[in-house]
Amino acid sequence: MRGWTEERIRDLVSRLETFREGCRVTTLAEVERESRSPFQLLVSCIISLRTKDEVTNAASRRLFQLAQTPQALAKLKPVEIAKAIYPAGFYRTKAAQLQQLASLLCAEHNGAVPANERDLLRLPGVGRKTANLVLGLGFGVPAICVDTHVHRISNRLGLVSSTSPKETEQQLARWLPRDLWIPINDLLVTFGQNRCHPTSPRCSGCPVTDLCPRVGVTRHR
Ligand code: SF4
Repeated sequence: MRGWTEERIRDLVSRLETFREGCRVTTLAEVERESRSPFQLLVSCIISLRTKDEVTNAASRRLFQLAQTPQALAKLKPVEIAKAIYPAGFYRTKAAQLQQLASLLCAEHNGAVPANERDLLRLPGVGRKTANLVLGLGFGVPAICVDTHVHRISNRLGLVSSTSPKETEQQLARWLPRDLWIPINDLLVTFGQNRCHPTSPRCSGCPVTDLCPRVGVTRHR
């Protein structure tokens, strides 16, 4: 993207890494570090959709106390899963999806999470964002997970000029150094949760303000 050299993007990433050190660890990063389980990452990512990070964290922990594997989750009733993940957004729908997903993993994938995009996208409740997150954090396969924070902040910074997360992923994939494909998600999610908020970002004192053209930002603090 115009104006973004490799040196400049690595400077940005370095500053975002320093910023993250002072922030609470995101739920998905925590699940990755604690469990090293693609299945638990997949489950937490589904719970996280339209749900605050703190709620996702507590809901994931309650569910993993009941079931940590596809085999164990497949044995639970949707109502039991719903009770565990409440008050996550759309908890009843997600409970049904998670039960179906676990059953499908047992029936068609020997109780394991597939390590390829095609099979991941066929699972209930799994879209590009979730598939890419599991590929990256769960299997170490370079993939750019674009959620609402990555999409919004990439546009504000002028890393992309796009109208959808899918377009953002495609544009980033054209020029972002491959070793940054996996880490860029957690860096921008943490930054979005703590500084570059959806409405009224805290630009005053922002650690990357000199790199940011603030594209589309009309109100800020
Ligand atoms: S200067 Fe403002 S818009 Fe740009 S990254 Fe920082 S907080 Fe976000």
